[in-house]
Amino acid sequence: MRYLVVFSITPVQAFIGRARKLRDFYVSSKILSYLASAGFNAVNGKKVYPSAQSKSIPNKFVFSIEADKEEQVKSELERIEQSIQNAWLELADITNVPRCRVNDYWNYSWAAVPYKDEKEYKQAHSKVQKLLAAIKLKPRKIRKSQTGKKCPLCGENSVWREDFGANKDEKLCGVCAIKRLLPEKITKNHQLYSIFSDKYPSVTEIAMHRYIGKYGLINEYEIESLQEETKYNELKNKYGKSPSNKEKYYALLAMDGDKMGDLVNKKTTPDEHLGLSQKLDSFNGEVEKIDCFDKRKGNAKLIYTGGDDIFAVLPLENAISIAKEIRELYMKKVVKDEPTTTISAAIVIAHHKEPLREVIQDTHRVLDKIAKEKAGRDALAIRLKKRSGGDRDLFFQWKATNPFKPDETLFDSLLKIKEALSESALTSSLIYRLAQLKDAIGVQGIKSEQILKLFEYEVAHSIGEENVKENAKRLAGLCLAQAFNQQGELKEFNPEAVAIAHFLANDNDDKKMEDK
Ligand SMILES: [Zn+2]
Repeated sequence: MRYLVVFSITPVQAFIGRARKLRDFYVSSKILSYLASAGFNAVNGKKVYPSAQSKSIPNKFVFSIEADKEEQVKSELERIEQSIQNAWLELADITNVPRCRVNDYWNYSWAAVPYKDEKEYKQAHSKVQKLLAAIKLKPRKIRKSQTGKKCPLCGENSVWREDFGANKDEKLCGVCAIKRLLPEKITKNHQLYSIFSDKYPSVTEIAMHRYIGKYGLINEYEIESLQEETKYNELKNKYGKSPSNKEKYYALLAMDGDKMGDLVNKKTTPDEHLGLSQKLDSFNGEVEKIDCFDKRKGNAKLIYTGGDDIFAVLPLENAISIAKEIRELYMKKVVKDEPTTTISAAIVIAHHKEPLREVIQDTHRVLDKIAKEKAGRDALAIRLKKRSGGDRDLFFQWKATNPFKPDETLFDSLLKIKEALSESALTSSLIYRLAQLKDAIGVQGIKSEQILKLFEYEVAHSIGEENVKENAKRLAGLCLAQAFNQQGELKEFNPEAVAIAHFLANDNDDKKMEDK
């Protein structure tokens, strides 16, 4: 008898996302993929997804095996579980974390459904997925509750040691300690060695890479001092300038395929599933090759790419161009043959002092709640998290045309405004003045020509005399993208669109607006 099996390892978000440093985030994503591959490589059967050649193994994989009895399936799955568990405990040994601190961390869930031939495959596939979902609601083992102080980083396990960090006063549990210690403890013969051998930048270094490059900051003390406002005076004395406000911000990017579940469920044979896996592999391979992710050429860092999921950390000025490039690769490698799927993206612009785990959570939220739900998928959503004041959002579908400039998409309008802001001085009062337009624009029955006149006036006075009419149309489109309801009433005027564009623009001119 043939069985279709789905196997999953959890928790994922809790393991990866609870990171204080970018390095913890990156390391945990690589550990999870390493553990999944320890299980995936132990499979004695036909791999359905991901494909056997896949470089990055997701936490859930599907395969089929031959077995005479159910008992055989069970023992095969226990063997796979054991391979993962052994790989995990080996990481504990490498970092000298006692096994008893971490041995019940992972939950392994699986479901298996017998099927005779390809005709029964589609039904078996849908059944096995539903079974897994039901099983996950009732985990097989409950983690033993740990007594003592809770780890401040994950908030979940109890503290193991209290002497981490530069000041030797950071408390970490066993699981968080593995993530923190592994890159330095791993030995050359381990397959994770090459992945962790590079020094991993902090979000501060990514945000301030231009400042660091301009003044040639190389010593560790100076790089460290970028993290403390109190040390900015020293930098100012030495270089004549401390980092600008904008240089304190960076971007997180999350992208994932839309309607992937439907696409997967539509497939009727293992080979069709395998075909989709291979397309996704080829997409991921291309994403890895993007120039900015090459450490010699750019300052962006890919945290993970696998299946239809991407997560990366980027300097502001590359953020939307990289999102665009990834979308184009997805169109070329996946959508070309699978036209029912699209890809959505979330970019969160955050201050380098903002707790990383919150920015990570926010990025997932913006992807799910704004790009997918509010904008309706196939969309880009950008959130600016200002240090003071609330969040500002801008979102639209990639293909949405600018209502004030029908020959251009809103995305291209954003690119053009970003360029215009890079080349000219934008006064800080523009955002304020645009906000003042709200009442005028809200007048019942106002015509779009009248709105454009208002924008032209502001653009001429702030962005510059060049291309006033074009830039006014672009800006009006961005600020009013979600503005009118079906009755034609103004419900959402978003002057913050220009603040977001400004943050994404290159600063060529030191005299530019200092954000408040
Ligand atoms: Zn912890």
